[in-house]
Amino acid sequence: MDLRQSETCEHKPIWVGRIAVSACVDCKTVEWFSSDGPADPAEAIAALFGSYDLMGPLDALGAPTSRVLAYAPPSSRKRKNLEALPRRVWLQAGPRLWMSHDGVVLLLATTQPMLFENLTRGA
Ligand SMILES: [Zn+2]
Repeated sequence: MDLRQSETCEHKPIWVGRIAVSACVDCKTVEWFSSDGPADPAEAIAALFGSYDLMGPLDALGAPTSRVLAYAPPSSRKRKNLEALPRRVWLQAGPRLWMSHDGVVLLLATTQPMLFENLTRGA
């Protein structure tokens, strides 16, 4: 695994199903892995959150983009997938892709409109 390390933080992947999530508050990044190595962020997010229900776009203050998409987990079991990520911080999850959550609702922000179609592909 090609994990970036710094002097002040340690990146420990958490396995959620077949995806390993390495989220770091200090670096404000998320890295995604499968058993084969680094995973495509859109595919990893679809694997973890593809069953989430799109609630709609929101105007967002303090987010990387002025509008974000909000997703709700379909069940408490699926909601646990959020626990691999720290709450209430915007993390860069991929190229031009950011995510945040409050333990209940997943927020995604991207400057690539096409990406959202990929994220909901697994639903
Ligand atoms: Zn870090």
